Amino acid sequence: MKDREDLSIANPLWNDWKWQYANRITTVEQLSQLICLSEKEKDEINLCLQSFRMAITPYYASLMKKDDSNDPIHRQAIPSIEETYLCGNDMEDPLNEEHDSPVPHIVHRYPDRVLFLVTLQCSMYCRHCTRRRTVGEGDRVITEKELQKALAYIRKHEEIRDVLISGGDPLTMPDAKLEHIISEIRAIEHVDIIRIGTRVPVVMPMRITNELTSMLKKYQPIWINTHFNHPSEITREAEAACMAIVDAGIPLGNQSVLLRGINDSSKIMKELLLKLVHMRVRPYYLYQCDLSVGIGHFRTNVEEGIEILHELTGYISGYAIPKFVIDAPAGGGKIPVNYNYVIQKDDKEVVMENYRGETYRYPQP
Ligand SMILES: *Cc1c(COP(=O)(O)O)cnc(C)c1O
Ligand code: SF4
Repeated sequence: MKDREDLSIANPLWNDWKWQYANRITTVEQLSQLICLSEKEKDEINLCLQSFRMAITPYYASLMKKDDSNDPIHRQAIPSIEETYLCGNDMEDPLNEEHDSPVPHIVHRYPDRVLFLVTLQCSMYCRHCTRRRTVGEGDRVITEKELQKALAYIRKHEEIRDVLISGGDPLTMPDAKLEHIISEIRAIEHVDIIRIGTRVPVVMPMRITNELTSMLKKYQPIWINTHFNHPSEITREAEAACMAIVDAGIPLGNQSVLLRGINDSSKIMKELLLKLVHMRVRPYYLYQCDLSVGIGHFRTNVEEGIEILHELTGYISGYAIPKFVIDAPAGGGKIPVNYNYVIQKDDKEVVMENYRGETYRYPQP
C-alpha cells in the first residue's frame, strides 16, 4: 500500500505547483488529517459538498490556524453549514452572465471588452465564489472547437479591445494550453490589452514560475488581477509570486470581496491594502458580496463597505484605495458606490467635505 502523502512543507515537492494541485484536499477524510473535526462537522461538510466542491492546496491549508473555525483562511476554504441555507434574494446567476453570453465562454456586457471564461477549474474553491453555479463542476477546460468559436466572435467584433481571460482560474492550465489561447488572442489586430484574472498568487503562489512569466512577457501588453482578501494571505511565497509578475513588466491589480467576519473592518482592510501596495499590487476593486446561492452569511450591509473606505481615504496613499463596487444583480454591471463628499452643488458653488469632515467651498467659474 502506498504511504500516505506527506502534505507538510517538509515534502521535497512542496514548491512544485503540479504537486500542490494534484494533492489538494478535496474530501472530509483528508481534511480531518489536518484539523480536528467532530462527527457533526464532518456530516455538515459532506452535506455542503453535495452542492459545491472543496479543494484546498496544501500550501493554502498550511496558512490555516488549526483549531479556529473563525480563522479567515479557514472560512474561505472550508465549507460551513451556512452554505446550505437559502436566503430570499439568492440567485443562481446573479450577474446574469448567461444573458450576455453571445457564444459559449464569452460574456460581452461592456462596449469595448469581453470576459473570456476558459476553464471551470480553480486551484482552490473559494467558499464565497460568485460563479459557484458553474465553477468546480467537473474539471472542464475549453475545447479547441469552443475556443475557435469564441475567437471567431472576438475577431468579428472590432469594438473589442480588451479581453479578460478568467474562469475558473486560467493559471490552473498548463503553460502550453494557456500560451495557445493567449497567442491566438494576441494575433487579433484590434485586441489591445489582454487581462488575466487569477487567484493563483494567493492560493498556489509556486505556480508563478520563470517559464510562465517569460511566456506571458512575449504577449504584452498583459495585465493581471489577483484576489487577496486578508493580510494573513500575504506570505513570503505570495510576495515572491507578485514580485515575479510585476518584475516581468506586468501590472498587477487586486480585487477583494468584502466578507463578513473576514475583512469587514477598516483596521484589517488597511493592513491588507498597505501590504498590497508594498508588493506593488494596486488595489483595484473592493466588491460587495453578491447574491450567489449559499453565501448569504458572508454578506455585509452596503453602508459598511462605504464607511470602511471613507475611514481610510485621505489617511493612507491614494494608490492603496480600491473602488468599492456592487456588481449589480441582473447584469447591470459594476456600479461604484461611494461616500458622498459633495454636500451641495449649484451654479455658484460646490460645498464639499474633506476627508476629516471639514467643510470647503469651491466657486463655480
Ligand atoms: C468585470 C467585468 C469586466 C471588466 O470590467 P472592468 O471594470 O474594465 O475591470 C468585463 N466584462 C464583464 C462581464 C465583467 O463582469
Ligand atoms: S478562484 Fe475565483 S473563480 Fe475560483 S473559486 Fe475562487 S473566487 Fe471562484
